[in-house]
Amino acid sequence: MIVKKITPRGFCKGVYNAIELVKKSLNDPTLPRPIYVLGFIVHNKHVVDDLTNAGAITLDDRLTSRLELVKDIKKGTIILSAHGTDEEVKRLILENNLTLIDATCNDVYQTHDSIKEHLAKGYNIIYIGKINHPETNASISLSPKITLIETLEDLDKVILKEPLFVTNQTTFSINDILPIHEKIKSLYQNVIISEEICNATRFRQNAIIKGNEGVDLCYVVGDPRSNNSKNLVKISQELTKTKTLLIQSVKDIKIKDLKGVSVVSVSSGASTPNYLTEEVIKFLENFKN
Ligand code: SF4
Repeated sequence: MIVKKITPRGFCKGVYNAIELVKKSLNDPTLPRPIYVLGFIVHNKHVVDDLTNAGAITLDDRLTSRLELVKDIKKGTIILSAHGTDEEVKRLILENNLTLIDATCNDVYQTHDSIKEHLAKGYNIIYIGKINHPETNASISLSPKITLIETLEDLDKVILKEPLFVTNQTTFSINDILPIHEKIKSLYQNVIISEEICNATRFRQNAIIKGNEGVDLCYVVGDPRSNNSKNLVKISQELTKTKTLLIQSVKDIKIKDLKGVSVVSVSSGASTPNYLTEEVIKFLENFKN
């Protein structure tokens, strides 16, 4: 079987830095214990499990808000995840006299800075992002003047006051964002659009578009919670019309999916450890149909 290894794949700089910050904190005896991570540090269960084994306590429950999760914690260190954290949660952590370590990616903070800058100039904000994603929650927590738009249809449900500044979640799909921008331009005149998909996401999405030429099947190695991994699958399916499967590790490969496949491509999300992708590649290279 021919295996096309799509690059770039694996950790982006924001994910790498966040994981390193947790490891460094665990090794720093001066930091108050316990050491908590608020939410998945990055959206990959294998990474979270490894850090848990090393001593970090991840506070994560999809049915409980981050505010609730930290409310009763009165001692220790809290590390904020790479996606960013609501302003109110940060305030509560400091009020509770906890040590706060911020692993938010710089690219997320750049988006926050552009939102703050335009709020100060009197703009209302459109934020294009996935509802209930921690990055979205952190970004829209900056002001009540921010309106969340996830789909084209969402634009029909609101009437917004101009001037408008439009920004987005860093891991949004390059394919989905353009029609939303076009529709905003058709509805509003006094509008500044700033497309802020981060380079790590953009390069991976573009690479899968180019890399899938002549491919029968594409695997994206990533966690089902990872927005950038899910968008790689979506882009691969929509733009390259390639059958594409999201798998967490080599264990998820089903032999029936490989029947009749002669060329397979492999990509991975920005929060997927390389060893997981390498195991998938190795398995496929040794597979005989
Ligand atoms: S995917 Fe982009 S925004 Fe997210 S951590 Fe990586 S570089 Fe930062």
